[in-house]
Amino acid sequence: MFVGSKIVLLRTTRHKTASAATTAAITTTTNKMMMMRPIQHQHQHQHVKKHARAMTTTTTAMCSSSSSASSSTRNLSRATTPTSQSSLGRKKQQHRFQRRAIASSSSSSSSAAAEAGGEEPSSSSSSSSAKHVSSLLSWPTRTTLCGSLNISSVGEKVSLCGWVDKQRDMGGICFADVRDHSGLVQIIGAAEGVHANQSQIDEILSSLRSECVVKVVGVVRERNNKNKNIKTGEVEVEVESIEVLNVVSKSLPFSISEGEKSGNADKSSEEVRLKNRVLDLRRPKMLKNLKRRHEAIKKMRKVLEDEFDFMEIETPVLSRPTPEGARDYLVPARTAAAGSCYALPQSPQLFKQMLMVSGCDRYYQVARCFRDEDLRADRQPEFTQLDVEMSFTDADGIMNVAERVFLEASGMHKKVQQPFRRMTYAEAMEKYGSDKPDLRFDLEMTTLNDVLNDTEFPPFKSALEVSRSSVKVLVVDDSQAGKNKISNAKLKPKGEIFEDAVNAGSANGLFFCRVAEDGKTLEGAKGLVEGLANCAEKIINTSNAPPGSLLLFVAGKTKVVNTALDKVRHKCANMLNLIDPKAHAVLWVTDFPMFEYNEDEERFEACHHPFTAPNTEDYEKNPDDLTEARAIAYDLVYNGVEIGGGSLRIYRRDVQEKVFKAIGMSTEEAEDKFGYLLDAFQYGAPPHGGFAIGVDRLVMLLCGAKSIRDVIAFPKTTTGQCLLTRAPGEATTEQLAELNIKRIE
Ligand code: ASP
Repeated sequence: MFVGSKIVLLRTTRHKTASAATTAAITTTTNKMMMMRPIQHQHQHQHVKKHARAMTTTTTAMCSSSSSASSSTRNLSRATTPTSQSSLGRKKQQHRFQRRAIASSSSSSSSAAAEAGGEEPSSSSSSSSAKHVSSLLSWPTRTTLCGSLNISSVGEKVSLCGWVDKQRDMGGICFADVRDHSGLVQIIGAAEGVHANQSQIDEILSSLRSECVVKVVGVVRERNNKNKNIKTGEVEVEVESIEVLNVVSKSLPFSISEGEKSGNADKSSEEVRLKNRVLDLRRPKMLKNLKRRHEAIKKMRKVLEDEFDFMEIETPVLSRPTPEGARDYLVPARTAAAGSCYALPQSPQLFKQMLMVSGCDRYYQVARCFRDEDLRADRQPEFTQLDVEMSFTDADGIMNVAERVFLEASGMHKKVQQPFRRMTYAEAMEKYGSDKPDLRFDLEMTTLNDVLNDTEFPPFKSALEVSRSSVKVLVVDDSQAGKNKISNAKLKPKGEIFEDAVNAGSANGLFFCRVAEDGKTLEGAKGLVEGLANCAEKIINTSNAPPGSLLLFVAGKTKVVNTALDKVRHKCANMLNLIDPKAHAVLWVTDFPMFEYNEDEERFEACHHPFTAPNTEDYEKNPDDLTEARAIAYDLVYNGVEIGGGSLRIYRRDVQEKVFKAIGMSTEEAEDKFGYLLDAFQYGAPPHGGFAIGVDRLVMLLCGAKSIRDVIAFPKTTTGQCLLTRAPGEATTEQLAELNIKRIE
C-alpha cells in the first residue's frame, strides 16, 4: 500500500501464513527493538545492534516452532544459518530471474551516463522516482549506517538512509547500492510472495536513479555473489519497505559513485568540481579526506591537552597586522576614521606571545590565518594552522611537543623515530639548495667558488665577480641507470632539464659534462671541458663525483643557483625513479639566518618573522648589528614540504627594538605598529617560544592528495576565487559609501 512514496508494511498481511502467535511476537519485538531506534550515538548504536542480534535469535527460535512460517520469517531464520541458506538462496535467485524477466524496466546506467555527461535528466528518468516522493516533508531516522554492515549483521532488521549510488535492473531483479558517509551496501527486492506489496517495492526499486535519497527498511542477509571490493560486500539488505525522500531534478555534472567509470569527477576539470563543490564533497574520496583531516586535528588536540596540558584559546580575527611576510587582507572599519582598516591575522603570532606575558603558560589554537600572496597548489588565501606557544622551555622542549603532535596526527610512530633528524639551514642550502630538502633521495650539490678561483671559463669567471654569487655543481650518478640514463638532449637548450633551470631564473640555464672513467678528467662539450681542465680533479674530489657521473653546473646569484639546482635535482630524481613513494623523510631544519637580503628592495627582511630570537652567541658577538646573526628558528620538513616551523622569541623590549631597526623600521613606526607588544614586554615577559603546523599541507600529504584544495571543504582557486559562492563579490555603492570608500573609475 502506498502512502505517498512510503510503502508501509502491513504486518497483518505479511504474517498471513504464519501462526498468529508467532507473527504477533515478531511484529511487536522487531518494531520496538529495531525499527524505532534512530542513530544518535555510537554506543547507542552498538546497543541497538546487540539487541537486534538478540532479537534475531529469539525470532528464529519462535519461527522454527511454526511449520507454516512465511517466507519472510524464513528469511530471518535463514540468516542465522548462512550455510544452509546459500543453496536455498540460489534457487530463489534463479526463480526470481525467471519470474521477473519480463518486468525489466529501463536501466539506470544509461541515465547515469547521460547525467554524468551533463545532459538534463530525461523526463522519464527524473519523474520515475519523483512520482514516489511524498508530498509531505518528513525527517526519518535510521538505526544503522550503510557502511557498518557485515557478516555479523546477518539477520538484523535495519533501517538505512542515504543516496542511491547505483541501481541495476537485472532481468527484472532490482538491486541498488545505498550510500551514506560510512560506505555503501547493496539492497535487493525480496522473492515473490514474501511481501504482499512486493510489486510496489519493485516498482520503486526500478525507478531509483543515481543520487536520489531513500530510506530503506529491511533484513540483512548473506550475499550469494560476494563482492570483495567493498567493505559490506558479504551482505545485502532485503527490502521490506522503501521511501523515496528526494530526487535529483537537475543534471549531475559528474558521477558521484566511485564504481562509475564514465563521467567520473576525477576526470572533470578542477573548475567543474569547485563550482559543484557540494556534489564533489559527496564523493566518498572527498569525504574520506575530510574525515582524515578531522581525525588529524582531533589527535593534535588530544596530545596537546592530555599529554602536555595545553589550553585552547581563541584570538581575534579582526585585528592589526601580524607580519609573516605576506600582504595583509584588510577589512575597512565602518565605525572608525575614514581609511581605517582591520587586518586579518597572517597568524596569531603576537596574541600568543602576549598570552605568554599574561601567564597562560601553554596555549594552542586551531587557527585560521590569512595571507594575500601568490597562490600555488599548497597555498590558500585562508588556511588553518595548529598554533602553539609555551613559556619556560628551550627549543628542544618545543620541538619535542611538535614531534609528538606530528606523530599522533600522522600515525607514523613506527616509521619515524624521535628525536627527528636535524640539519642546519647552512647545510641544507649547501647540499640541497633548499631550506626544505626532500631527503627521500640522495642527490647532492657542492659550491665550487673556492675551487674555481682562477677559472678562465667565461660564464663562471664573470659570475664569480659579482657579490652574493656562486657556481655550484649537482652530481647525478646515472651510470647504472641503463635506458633511463639522462640524455644530452634533455640537458641542452630547449631540453626539459635545461628549461627548468632557465625557468628558475638561471640566465645561462645549465652546463653539463661527465666524469671520465679514469675518475680524474671531464668529458663533454669542448668549451666547458677545456675551461675547467686545470681544476677538473679538484671539482671531482670536492663534489665526490664517481666515474661516469653527470655534473650539472649553474652559475649566478647564489639564490638563483640554489633555486635552479633544487629544481634540477627533483627533475633528475623523478627521471631516475629515485623517489620511494613509501618513504617518509622527516627532519628539522635549524639555525635559519635572522634576515635575508631582498635584492629587489635592497634591504634585509626577517627570514622567519621579526619576533624570532637571535642565536645567543651571535648576539653576544655583535648585539648592535644582527644582520649576519643566526636565529633560534626551526622548520619541520616532511618529504620536501615545509609543514611547520617556529622559534624561540624575543622577550625584551631592547632586543626587539634592535630587530625592528635591522629591518629598516624606525622607532616611530615600530611604536605605532607594535607598541602594544613592546609595552607588554616591559611587564615581566617570560622567556617563551612556539611553533605552528600547517594543517592543510600536512593532511594533503597524509591523504596523498596533490593539492591542499582537496583537503579543504570550500577552497579558493589560485586566483583567490570561490567558484561555488562566487566570492569575492562586488560591494554596492551604498556599502562602500558607509565605509567611506570611493570607487576609482
Ligand atoms: N607564526 C609562525 C608562522 O605562522 C609560527 C611560529 O613562529 O609559531 O609561521
